[in-house]
Amino acid sequence: MVKRDYYEILDVSRDASEDELKKNYRRLALKYHPDRNPDDPKAEEKFKEAAEAYDVLNDPEKRSLYDRYGHDGLQGAGFQGFGGAEDVFSSFGSIFEELFGFGGSGRRGGRTAARAGADLRYDAQITLEEVVSGTEKMLEFDKTETCIQCLGKRTAPGTQPTTCGTCGGIGQVERRQGFFAMRTTCPHCRGQGVVITDPCPECRGLGLVQTPKKLSVKIPPGMDENARLRLTGEGEEGTHGGPPGDLYVVVHVAPHDIFERDGVNVHCEVTISFSQAALGADVEVPSLYGPKTLTIPRGTQTRDTLTLRGCGVPHVRGGGRGDQIAHVVVRTPTRLTERQEELLREFASLSGETASVTQRSSLFTRIARAAARLWHALTLSVALPVQRLGQAPPRP
Ligand SMILES: [Zn+2]
Ligand SMILES: [Zn+2]
Repeated sequence: MVKRDYYEILDVSRDASEDELKKNYRRLALKYHPDRNPDDPKAEEKFKEAAEAYDVLNDPEKRSLYDRYGHDGLQGAGFQGFGGAEDVFSSFGSIFEELFGFGGSGRRGGRTAARAGADLRYDAQITLEEVVSGTEKMLEFDKTETCIQCLGKRTAPGTQPTTCGTCGGIGQVERRQGFFAMRTTCPHCRGQGVVITDPCPECRGLGLVQTPKKLSVKIPPGMDENARLRLTGEGEEGTHGGPPGDLYVVVHVAPHDIFERDGVNVHCEVTISFSQAALGADVEVPSLYGPKTLTIPRGTQTRDTLTLRGCGVPHVRGGGRGDQIAHVVVRTPTRLTERQEELLREFASLSGETASVTQRSSLFTRIARAAARLWHALTLSVALPVQRLGQAPPRP
């Protein structure tokens, strides 16, 4: 049988520190612990393998031997692996005591019913561009996990919960009121029958810790608002060997400056000039796939829609994309030169239309110019005396 590299088993680099070894070993021991994987020979094998790797790498002498000569070097020095999980517990007692607060004996207590971990929800916001291309998001969140130090037992390593003095371990107390005796849940131990006098320092006796998590998730193209992605087993840990919950990533699409999404189609507004509307034109419009040429037919009206095929959002299950629908807005010119005005008036009279006789724009311009001249004169007359006052007094 080919033996795996010890560093690889513990998933550490070759110069891993004692702390790193311990941390990764803990993680693996917790995961493959026989209590959590009853009657699972594969888990037991992994549990054994991790213990062996940790036993070697945590011992400077064995580690240097292994670094120089590999597995053969250790065998030459008389090192044998572990036969089974029991073997790990018996020869590993002190380390286990230190890591988990229990040794080979007394590890199998009464089993409490397994309970599945809670599902988690993560709301991720993406842009419309990311909907089009698909994206990868790094999720960062806190997750409640079983405390690895006490394995959820809540007591400090090496200590045991003590019997509750108030109820004597029954979990209930009797209260007398006149002739009546009432049994209620023990207020001291809350019905547990035991109290923890030495709480685990890692989790402060909660048995659970909040661990920051980073998880990368691939969001495929075409996701809808409120679409859910399920990451199996990434929810909270189960208790007493129960399976972990799932993590649901709920996708939200941020509003876009230009486009409004409607399923696989996107809508936008395209403003064209009055003459482009009348005569037709090719105009450049933005799309989710870069600028595109949109052909405006002659005689286009405000609120007409023009379609750019295939410029919408991809279908989730592949096979083409939606369209971009441009809603036309014809812009009325607001500032006309004299020549433009002249031509427009001619155009109006040729169409038999009446147009306002007052040349509003030129009248307005004349008033504005007069106001500007007046303002200029005023600021000059105010500014001059101020400058004179600011001069330094003559020296004697
Ligand atoms: Zn703890
Ligand atoms: Zn009690």
